[in-house]
Formats: sequence, structure tokens, C-alpha cells
Amino acid sequence: MSSECLFCKIAGRSIPADVVAETDNALAFRDINPQAPTHVLVIPRQHVESLEEVDDPQMMGELVTLSRMIASREGLENGWRWVTNVGSDGGQSVFHLHFHLLGGRRMTWPPG
Ligand code: 5GP
Ligand code: ZN
Repeated sequence: MSSECLFCKIAGRSIPADVVAETDNALAFRDINPQAPTHVLVIPRQHVESLEEVDDPQMMGELVTLSRMIASREGLENGWRWVTNVGSDGGQSVFHLHFHLLGGRRMTWPPG
């Protein structure tokens, strides 16, 4: 837990969020500024800054499994997108690892 980290505070429930699913090691909540009808952020409870710092394949597996479960529950049978921004050039603004789960509309490519 990093005391200054927004997503650690959300994981610790000291800042409210619209939580859609949780496991022992992961939490999923709706993005405050949604970019699609479904826009959920899937995070590990543990403070990991970005994909650059991931060294636990089991944790990654849990994030994948939880994301697929949410996509199914949200009715995204036509597809969805899973994105993580890494560092400043990647467009990361919150430095606690999170995967954007986006769906409910046709996505475009390339991203901006
Ligand atoms: P990034 O830009 O780091 O890839 O994504 C950060 C995401 O966190 C953004 O999509 C932003 O809307 C979302 N966000 C920022 N602050 C909050 C907050 O306090 N609550 C929630 N639910 N989402 C937030
Ligand atoms: Zn954190």
C-alpha cells in the first residue's frame, strides 16, 4: 500500500468507487470518466506501478480471469478491449497498474 496512491486508497476502500467485482488479490471498479458504455478498471490490490514492474504471473492470470468474467457479465459477447498505458509516452496518469476493460461500442484503431 502506497499512502499517496489513489488506487491503493480505492483498494483500501478509503476512497469510494463503483466496485463491480473483487477477489483476494484484485479489484474492478467503473472508471470515473468512461470512454465506452462499459469502462471498468481492473487492478491488483498490491501496489505495482505499471506493467514494467510486474513479476508475478499468477497475479496477471487473476487479472485476466477477472476481466473475462466481468466482460461476460456485462454482456460483451461481440468483443471488448483490454488496454494498459505504461509511462508518460504510454499515456499513464495513475501510477498503480490498471487494465482498462472497454466495451459496448465498436472500438476504433489506431488509438490516439
Ligand atoms: P490511465 O490514464 O492511467 O491509463 O488511466 C487512469 C484512469 O483512471 C482514467 O481513465 C481516469 O478516468 C480514471 N480515474 C482517475 N481518477 C479516478 C477516480 O478517482 N475514480 C475512478 N473510478 N477512476 C478514476
Ligand atoms: Zn497503489
